[in-house]
Amino acid sequence: MDEDEQDSTPANIIDCHCHIASEQHTPRSFIEGSVANMVRALEAQGLPVSARKLTNMFLSKMQDPLCDSLVGEMEAAGISKTVLLIADFTYALKDCILTIEESYNKHREVLLRHPGKFEVFGGADPRWGKDGLDLFERSLAEFGFRGFKVYPPCGFSPSDPALFPYYELCAHYQVPVLLHIGPTSPVLDFTYSSPFLVDEAARLFPTVDFILAHGVVNFVEECVMMCRFRPNVYLDISGYQNTLGYDPSAGAVRNIVSLGINHKILFGTDFPVFRLQGEQADFIDALTGASGALAQLNEREKSLVLSQNVERLLEKSVPVVVWC
Ligand SMILES: [Zn+2]
Repeated sequence: MDEDEQDSTPANIIDCHCHIASEQHTPRSFIEGSVANMVRALEAQGLPVSARKLTNMFLSKMQDPLCDSLVGEMEAAGISKTVLLIADFTYALKDCILTIEESYNKHREVLLRHPGKFEVFGGADPRWGKDGLDLFERSLAEFGFRGFKVYPPCGFSPSDPALFPYYELCAHYQVPVLLHIGPTSPVLDFTYSSPFLVDEAARLFPTVDFILAHGVVNFVEECVMMCRFRPNVYLDISGYQNTLGYDPSAGAVRNIVSLGINHKILFGTDFPVFRLQGEQADFIDALTGASGALAQLNEREKSLVLSQNVERLLEKSVPVVVWC
């Protein structure tokens, strides 16, 4: 990033979509599935690389369980706060290293280690029944978590009634729900990936805010429609980094911020998914640099997308005193 570009970057960017970079929270089968698609793409370009080698390269970037490196990258990129999401793969994939409760505890450690730098949204597969619900409620009431992460490709609709007690808790504690939208690692089921499956839940829980993750690259038209017509539906732009290899000016982001819904768009990176493609500062530069995807926006709209929209959603909840 050169100095001119750095000057135009707001200093208080909030990244609404990240994960702890550690194999403890993302099972090996999930990673290997994602690598299979990269191997196909590289082979076709005459760059044969073994799946094992690529997996090892990725795993070498997944050694930051306490988020110390992430904090460094945030500082270098002008990101003041990051939301860490816990996707509960423990019901659908049987090679998870930690139970979901252990995963929550590791996220609490990170929250306490870096005060003010992170928020955490806990996830739960609704098929865990009361245990999952109790854990999620504790996370809001005692751990200081500030939202709910839903991962429908694990095999359930985001409007499955088994999730309604979770949404009731979100309404009570006034915290948002962030849902994975679109395909994912091929070891999971893409059937439940459409944003329209969120509609029933969004209609039944009008006081809960629903964030459609990856709406900038997956089911874009449908996600934009939902944002435009459901007052409580938002989208995040994480995943745009996937397009930077063939479109360094992030045309997908340029497009979505030109549709009149900038009050609904949230900045996110999905760290560490794109760590082989670059660092957080590179991804910010593609948006806020002189020829970046947000260059045409005025300062107010830029601030909405980069921080204020997610800030409004987070401010609704009353922070709890965290039990150490
Ligand atoms: Zn993610």
